[in-house]
Amino acid sequence: MNRRRWFVGKKMAAWCCVLLLVLLAADLYANRLADPDIISAAGEPSAAERAAAKQTEAGTKTVALTFDDGPHPVWTPKLLDGLRKRHVHASFFLIGQNIDGNEEIVRQMYKDGHLIGNHSQSHMQLTAEHAEDACAQIRRTNEKIKAVTGHEPDYVRPPFGSWSDELEELVPMTAVLWNLDPLDWKSQDRASVVAYVKSHVEDGSIILLHDVYEPSVEAALEIVDMLLAEDYNFVTVDEMLIE
Ligand SMILES: [Zn+2]
Repeated sequence: MNRRRWFVGKKMAAWCCVLLLVLLAADLYANRLADPDIISAAGEPSAAERAAAKQTEAGTKTVALTFDDGPHPVWTPKLLDGLRKRHVHASFFLIGQNIDGNEEIVRQMYKDGHLIGNHSQSHMQLTAEHAEDACAQIRRTNEKIKAVTGHEPDYVRPPFGSWSDELEELVPMTAVLWNLDPLDWKSQDRASVVAYVKSHVEDGSIILLHDVYEPSVEAALEIVDMLLAEDYNFVTVDEMLIE
């Protein structure tokens, strides 16, 4: 009898130990979930998480890539593919007459999250024309962009950077110029464009390129890789102007 009672007592003690262990384990697990330090120590942040954290740090260098004169049926899609792979957004200032027949490219550009702006209908020097003609050029291109994307652009880049107080008054859009011009259209040489940007780029640079030349598109993607490695954050011009 004693022996049996002793056995029952031992069995109960064993069950109590198991219960205690379960409770202890549950408590430890709950503490672990509640403590963010333990979580971050447990899982190393991924490269993407580290990059995102870096970009939100104060003082991060920003740069805007801008492309004029497109879309081009061959080089613009190549550029869009390269930018998409690198998760980089750029700003494209389109010539209205180049949109004709390339609507699908513009749709893809919009879908990829790039900023789409206006570069006039026929690359007109807007200040050399009557103000009404200049406004009509801008309006026609806005209409074409809206027909494809559903959104009218807010930004205009005047061809040759030629803008006036009168146009500023008349056109309800923001004119965007640039501060870093590697003259890619002139050299059409990938290496010299990359070298120029490498030696002149700084925080706040708005780089002017043209997605209608193969060397420019190749240079642009090389510039992206180079500046990502230097911790630059790529923004579209609207983000750059807000800062
Ligand atoms: Zn242009």
